Amino acid sequence: MPRGDAARWYRLQPLADAITLIDEPGIKPFYRCNIWHVRGRQRDLVVDFGLGAVPLRERVALLSERDIVAVASHTHFDHIGSAHEFDCCHVHAAEADILAAPDNARTLAARFLDDAMFDTLPPLPYAHSGYRIPAPAAIQPLEDGDVIDLGDRRFEVIHTPGHSPGGIALWEAASETLIAGDIIYDGELIEDAYHSDLDDYAASLRRLRRLPLRVVHGGHFPSFSGQHCHALIDAWLARHDA
Ligand SMILES: [Zn+2]
Ligand SMILES: [Zn+2]
Repeated sequence: MPRGDAARWYRLQPLADAITLIDEPGIKPFYRCNIWHVRGRQRDLVVDFGLGAVPLRERVALLSERDIVAVASHTHFDHIGSAHEFDCCHVHAAEADILAAPDNARTLAARFLDDAMFDTLPPLPYAHSGYRIPAPAAIQPLEDGDVIDLGDRRFEVIHTPGHSPGGIALWEAASETLIAGDIIYDGELIEDAYHSDLDDYAASLRRLRRLPLRVVHGGHFPSFSGQHCHALIDAWLARHDA
């Protein structure tokens, strides 16, 4: 399999509302984590950090220019690989212990990390066998209802257990924008991880269904409309209830 170039490992796509999608095109879509950057007046926000196979902040200047709040939507390996590059990482209290000691079993790297994830491998010296996620130096636990304030923008933490026990979504009411993590995206959802819970999953989706969603930025795959999100949730719940 070909190796990628570190200088081109990350791709940036500016979207509306001063939100930028950062991702790793060498990773296949199902495994490719969306890293979200939000520009705020006083500080920026970054949600999720990718695989960590190539130093993220070294390669993406957008993440080093200004004061920035770093938030992990949850602690699966594809989302937290570069979390340790930030001084402090926020995560829901229910997964703070995993972020503090992010071993390959609990982060699912042991289950998923192999050649099948990639179209292009990360540059040397990366090897699957040497993959270890460093813990961030400081971890700030989040709870449902906490607010992340960027000065002119406010994101409310919504605890969305189900995919994993400490999953969170971030809700900006003013723009009706949801940064959802892995609880909902426009692709095959994972409901059978070792710490997934189907009843929690259903309750989290029912809660998100009540929001006046306009746009949803998920943990994987392209962003989609609130209307499409409601349809995805309704289809999931219909299967669950059947
Ligand atoms: Zn996940
Ligand atoms: Zn994921």
